[in-house]
This record gives sequence, C-alpha cells and structure tokens, in this order.
Amino acid sequence: MKIKKIILYKEAAVPEINTSQLADFLSNTLSIKVEIKDNIFKEFTNEQIKNLSKIRVIDPKRTFQEYDANDEEIEFEKKLCLDSSIMDTTTKIENAQKISDVLMYDGFELQKILRHLNTDDKVLHVIITNRLTCTYDERDFRYHARTVICANPTIISTSGAIEAPAKPREYYFEVMNMKSQGLGIDSVKEKYKDKVLDYHDKRLTKILEGFVLQSIFYHITGEPFCEDLRCKINNAHWQKDLLFSQLEIDELCQKHQEILSNLN
Ligand SMILES: [Zn+2]
Repeated sequence: MKIKKIILYKEAAVPEINTSQLADFLSNTLSIKVEIKDNIFKEFTNEQIKNLSKIRVIDPKRTFQEYDANDEEIEFEKKLCLDSSIMDTTTKIENAQKISDVLMYDGFELQKILRHLNTDDKVLHVIITNRLTCTYDERDFRYHARTVICANPTIISTSGAIEAPAKPREYYFEVMNMKSQGLGIDSVKEKYKDKVLDYHDKRLTKILEGFVLQSIFYHITGEPFCEDLRCKINNAHWQKDLLFSQLEIDELCQKHQEILSNLN
C-alpha cells in the first residue's frame, strides 16, 4: 500500500516523547509528509467513551467479552480521556496484587473504536497512547501486553513498550526480594536501567521510532517484523534486545533498507 501521509497523535502525558523529533525522523526516513495532532481521546464523544469502557480486559485468561462497566467506571474513563496523565495514578503491573487491578484494553477492539479516522487509505494514523493495550493469544490462551497494533489506525502503547518485552529474570527476582522485605524497588531499577525501560523514560522517543517503522513495513509488505537483532524493526521479546536494536544499532538491516530505498 502506498502511504502519502502519516498523522501522529500525541500522548502529552508522556512529555519524554518528543513528537516533533519522531515526526522529523519519519519524514526524513520515508520522504513523506508527517502531521502531528493532539491526543485523540480528548475528542471522544460520550458514546465512544462508553465503548472504551467496554473493552477493558479484566480476566487475561478469557477471550474478549464486553465488560459491563458501571457509571463510576465510565465517569473515570471520561476523566482519563480528557487527561491521560491520570493513567500514572492507576496500578502498574509490578505493584498489582491481582492483574484485574491493572487498567488494560483489548488492542484490536480499541483499533475498531478508532477506525472512523480512516477516511483516506493513503493516510496512516498513528495513535500514541499511554493506555496499556493487550491482545489475546490463541497459542497459550491468554492476553499479553502489546506495544503496537499494526493496522490503520496503528496504536502504539507506551505502557506496552515497558510491559510487553520481558525484563531480565534476575530483575523480577530482585524486585520480589525487595518487596518481600517491604523495601522500594528504585535501587533495582537503577541497577538494571541499561537493560530495562521504565515509565517516563527519556529513551522513549528513540524506542518509538522502531514501532512506527514496524507499522509502515506492515503496510508496505504485510510483515511488520524482522528477526535480525541488528535491525530497527526487530521483534524484540526482551527489553535488552529492544534497547539494543533501537539505541545501539539504530538502523534497518540491508534487506529492509533496500525495501525503503526502492519506495522513494
Ligand atoms: Zn530487517
């Protein structure tokens, strides 16, 4: 598919993401126009807000079922749409007593809610959001956090970038150890900062470049990922691999670079 223009929708609640820098990267790499728009959820109607509250995932072991949100939950969803920084006050996975305490949304259902943006199929809409998106995997019958839903609109979850690729096993072990002693985990985060991405991480702008490129490749070739660790669209299963391919390698492999060169 030929893309003429990309519209990037900002996530202002994550100021560490420099959306202009991301737009410049995309227009330089792809030689196409990139426009920046405000957070899409601010424009949501009451109907859309209600629909959003129905796609929360409560039980990760069950396939998607509409959630029957109560008035209080719908009201909270409305506040979250107007001010997405409220996400910071919600329970993170590492602090959750039970997984249903974490605010998670079905990524494919969210994509359906946003599909109305798609009036011109040569324009790719990329929604950056701090909402945690997840998708159900038929292979192990459970939901998993997902960073990118490659479609139009594409959804990129900044929380997904932090929660989806696995952290080192020793990190989880040390976090559990600190918690069992009633201690904070900041020292563990500091120790593993080269291998682990955190909320409000300054490296997020660079990290998001690869995820937007995955979506672009999905639209060009039908295949968003590369198995080569030294490629910017590598499908990283580990945080350390994500940081390596985006920050240290910071370029596409020869095969994917050629695909882009042939486009222009
Ligand atoms: Zn590649």
